[in-house]
Amino acid sequence: MINYKTYSYEENEHLYGPGKRLLLFTQGCSLHCKGCVNKHLWQFGVGANITVEEVLELCQDVEGITFHGGEPLDQSGGVLEIVKALKSAGKTVILFTGYQYKELSKSSQKRVWSLSDLVVSGRYIEEKRNIYLQFRGSTNQRVYRHKGKYKDYQIKDGKSVAIIRLNENGEMQSRGFRNQELEELLQEITKR
Ligand code: SF4
Repeated sequence: MINYKTYSYEENEHLYGPGKRLLLFTQGCSLHCKGCVNKHLWQFGVGANITVEEVLELCQDVEGITFHGGEPLDQSGGVLEIVKALKSAGKTVILFTGYQYKELSKSSQKRVWSLSDLVVSGRYIEEKRNIYLQFRGSTNQRVYRHKGKYKDYQIKDGKSVAIIRLNENGEMQSRGFRNQELEELLQEITKR
C-alpha cells in the first residue's frame, strides 16, 4: 500500500512515456528542491491510500504505470510491491525520482530502480531549468533505460509540451512546461 495524491490516465509520451499510462502522483517528498512546482506533494501521510490490487485493477487497459511525485522512493516498500505485481502482469514501469542511484540506501529503493523500464533521476535544479527536454525539468536530470521494452528508447528533446485542463468549476489544471507563447495566451484567456 502507498499514500498518493492523485492519478489519471495519460497518453502523452513527451511528458509521461509511451502508450496509454496510469500516471500516479505519490504523496510525500523529503527532498525539497528549490522551485519545485509540486510543493503540495511534500507532506507525508495526507493523501489517500491505495493497495496493490487496486493499482492492478486500474492498470488493466494500459501499457504501464508512471510514478511521479512527491517522491516515489520515499515509499519504496509499498512502491516495490506494486512494481513487482505490475511487471508480473506484463506492464511497463516508468519512475520519476529526485534521487540519484548512489544516494539509495534501502534495498527496496534499489529494487524499484532496477525493475523500472525507464528511470528519470535527479533533483530539480532551478538554475538549470530547461523547458525543452523530454521528461526532465532541468539539465542535470538523467534518463536511464533498462533491459526490456524500452531498452532502445530514444529521448526526444527540443520541444515544450504542456497539458491545460479546465474542470467542471472552470478551474485550470496545468501540467508539463509552459513556454512564453502559452503563458501569454493563458493570460489573454483569463482576462476575458
Ligand atoms: S524531488 Fe520532485 S517532488 Fe520532490 S522536491 Fe524535488 S521536484 Fe519536488
